[in-house]
Amino acid sequence: MTVPATTAEWLCTRCGSTNRMLVARTTERTMDRCNHCHARHIVEPGQRPVRWDARLKD
Ligand SMILES: [Zn+2]
Repeated sequence: MTVPATTAEWLCTRCGSTNRMLVARTTERTMDRCNHCHARHIVEPGQRPVRWDARLKD
C-alpha cells in the first residue's frame, strides 16, 4: 500500500532557515532537524497545507 506523500516546509526557530521534508499526508506530528544548525524541532501541520509549524524540541 502506498501512502500519499506531501512536502512539509518549516522554518527553524533558531536560525530561521527554511527546511523541507517529505512526509505521509496523514502525518499529524513529526520530528526533524534543521539542515543548517541541526536543532531538533517538532513539526506539525499548519493552517496552510505546505507551511508547517515548528517548535524547538528540548
Ligand atoms: Zn536552524
